Amino acid sequence: MNPLRVVVWGENVHEHKNPKVGAIYPRGMHAAIAEGLREFLPTAAVSTATLQEADHGLSVARLAETDVLTWWGHMAHDKVSDEVVDRVQKRVLEGMGLIVLHSGHYSKIFKRMLGTTCSLTWREADDRERLWVCNPGHPIARGLGTYFELPKEEMYGEPFAIPAPDEQVFISWFEGGEVFRSGCCWQRGNGKIFYFRPGHETYPTYHDKNVRRVIANAAEWARPQGQWIDSCPNAKNPPEKISLKA
Ligand code: ZN
Repeated sequence: MNPLRVVVWGENVHEHKNPKVGAIYPRGMHAAIAEGLREFLPTAAVSTATLQEADHGLSVARLAETDVLTWWGHMAHDKVSDEVVDRVQKRVLEGMGLIVLHSGHYSKIFKRMLGTTCSLTWREADDRERLWVCNPGHPIARGLGTYFELPKEEMYGEPFAIPAPDEQVFISWFEGGEVFRSGCCWQRGNGKIFYFRPGHETYPTYHDKNVRRVIANAAEWARPQGQWIDSCPNAKNPPEKISLKA
């Protein structure tokens, strides 16, 4: 099998505006996410792209050579060009995997792929988060125990305005009492989509071993299973002869 080609996309704004975020992620959150993928998938070709690059680092040519794209954005969702969103959507429908992280729930691409508002409840109060594995046989849960915890995270709670997931891998419980569907799978066209909740910028979540393992497992799971080039042909010449019936 060819090496898995993963592009880690980062908005790369908080890191430069908030010294607390810059201290946790001195090379950017995208660099930490990429480092985790390389740690767990040593044979994968992992690279990064950011909002500030031409085409946000996602040219047609680069996306054509991408098997799985991960997406973290928050304060600059509206700065992402619609042309790039169209392009990513097309590639997902063709078969590219898409992993949307944390505040990416409100990204243009996630809302485009799912077709709902993707809103949720939130709180920044250093809640402890416990991620329960509710589908232990799923490839994204490989290598995990029955649950794992993050000592401090932002809380995301229900209702989460998403279409019912095709598969549910994690449900989170928070110290304040809320629960949230924190690991959700969908298929759109030929592409696999995974949403993974943790990853608020002021916490070292993308340095956490379990979080890194989940993102790596998800990248492998989302590997394209062939490619579907969209077309809508008029099938004027069917394989069988159609007889005229009186
Ligand atoms: Zn957040």
